[in-house]
Amino acid sequence: MPIDSFRPQSWNGIDDIVIVGGGLAGLFCALKLAPRPVTILAAAPIGQGASSAWAQGGIAAAMSPGDTFEKHVADTLEAGAGIVDEKMARFMVSEGPARIHDLLEYGVPFDRDLEGKLLLSREAAHSERRIVRVKGDMAGKAIMEALISAVRKTPSIRVLEGYVVEELVREGRFISGVVARPDAGQSKNRVHFPARAVVLCSGGVGHLYAVTTNPWEACGQGVGMAARAGAIIADPEFVQFHPTAINIGRDPAPLATEALRGDGAHLINSAGHRFMLDIHEDGELAPRDVVSRGVFAEVQAGRGAFLDCTKAVGAHFPDMFPTVYASCIAAGIDPVTQPIPVVPAVHYHMGGVLTDAEGRTSIDGLWAAGEVTSTGVHGANRLASNSLLEAVVFAARIAENIKGMLPEPKINDWGKNAGESDDLVTIEDSPALKRLRRVMSDHVGVIRSREGLATAIREIAALERENSRMRFHNIVTTAKLIATGAYLREESRGGHFRSDFTEQKADWKHRTFLTLADAEKVVADLSETAAA
Ligand SMILES: Cc1cc2nc3c(=O)[nH]c(=O)nc-3n(C[C@H](O)[C@H](O)[C@H](O)COP(=O)(O)OP(=O)(O)OC[C@H]3O[C@@H](n4cnc5c(N)ncnc54)[C@H](O)[C@@H]3O)c2cc1C
Repeated sequence: MPIDSFRPQSWNGIDDIVIVGGGLAGLFCALKLAPRPVTILAAAPIGQGASSAWAQGGIAAAMSPGDTFEKHVADTLEAGAGIVDEKMARFMVSEGPARIHDLLEYGVPFDRDLEGKLLLSREAAHSERRIVRVKGDMAGKAIMEALISAVRKTPSIRVLEGYVVEELVREGRFISGVVARPDAGQSKNRVHFPARAVVLCSGGVGHLYAVTTNPWEACGQGVGMAARAGAIIADPEFVQFHPTAINIGRDPAPLATEALRGDGAHLINSAGHRFMLDIHEDGELAPRDVVSRGVFAEVQAGRGAFLDCTKAVGAHFPDMFPTVYASCIAAGIDPVTQPIPVVPAVHYHMGGVLTDAEGRTSIDGLWAAGEVTSTGVHGANRLASNSLLEAVVFAARIAENIKGMLPEPKINDWGKNAGESDDLVTIEDSPALKRLRRVMSDHVGVIRSREGLATAIREIAALERENSRMRFHNIVTTAKLIATGAYLREESRGGHFRSDFTEQKADWKHRTFLTLADAEKVVADLSETAAA
């Protein structure tokens, strides 16, 4: 492939900052770095293949008259079940309003009241009205449209779409570039992009699991790549599930919004029994992780779980919830008269690449922002609408840090052909990935146990041995870190529930820090046990 084909007519810069990923974190960081030249490598066209564009709720920021940073921090600490890094949460919360103003300047049309003031909504577990939205549930789409437009107008930003990064190149203590595969990862060519700063913004891990609300590109490649390059990974075991994804065989699974339960819809099994009343005094309105476990248990027991909206919403369904209605009708279910089959789905990863307050990872030359990271602000469970906030706050901090550390652009290189390799190609539909997703959902999902996790870790190791492809190795590495973190944490906390250790334990009231070598040691110990 001619290297000139990487050079869009309008781009005039120098290629020494590479951002991996074109979701909210990646685009915001690039805009904040302007006019410093940057290259964004994104697996899919920007605006697609990113959770950011699918966000429905909005962004949390303490901006209403009765609200304070203290209250927002307190709610964040409460949701995080005792292990939030308070200092990091304070940075995030206190810089929230400034970042919302940045988004307004980039053209995001946040909802306003009649006086033109920002309209702030309330969400579960927030003690104040503090969610900025766009037209109700369109925040993600509108934010991304505004940022994409700003990025396209910024001459210092070069966007290379369809470049799947497979490897972080490490030279001694430093990350010195990345290797990517063009054509949505389908090309035999691999391209090396040397860089003095690499910012990893590659999103979440949903597609490591059989059922998820995340786009395909969120399959944990970033965490795996970073771990393989030697980075420390934090809190990998903490995965958040949404309790009511619509179980109609669609991948990703559409959501049956929590507002339906808020409006009085009941969860029943195939015998018509309202099982949540047996589990929690608040029934369907119990915390998200409790409802997820209730739904999961019914599905696992073969009784199925259904959201019955026929009485609470009934004939108003098409008007009140048009998106959910359309998904159901397309699958042959009329939610006005029929219960909707539901299942818990992986929604968000609290764990990821460990970063400090400036977004620096444990390896020089590598920064990270957004869902791929573990900054510590979510602890064991994310407070709703804090993830978009985290993405913009730390992306902006990274831009400042890089500008301070590397004031002058130096490398002048357009990307070099790194040779051909058949070591690809479509892993997304491969039997190995299907098996991995099944293993993760069955044993590393909503309810975990020592035995199940040991089975998962052995299966993951076997899948890794049988598949040499680099991209698959990135994915399977992330799975290994999540399963190992869950195996080691012998308690239940936030998004992590162990059926053999159902309580929180005081001596586990801390974050998890793992390297790939630590995880390999657990794999080796378990292999020895199996062989003995
Ligand atoms: C349905 C849904 C609703 C949500 N609603 C909310 C909400 O209301 N409020 C809230 O705060 N959070 C919400 N979240 C979570 C939030 O959307 C995400 O945490 C956030 O958008 C993550 O942003 P990001 O930039 O880190 O990742 P993403 O937006 O996922 O972007 C990742 C980017 O990296 C690219 N990529 C991945 N791997 C590679 C690779 N190997 N090489 C190159 N590029 C790669 C992707 O294509 C994409 O461009 C929701 C999530 C979902 C799925």
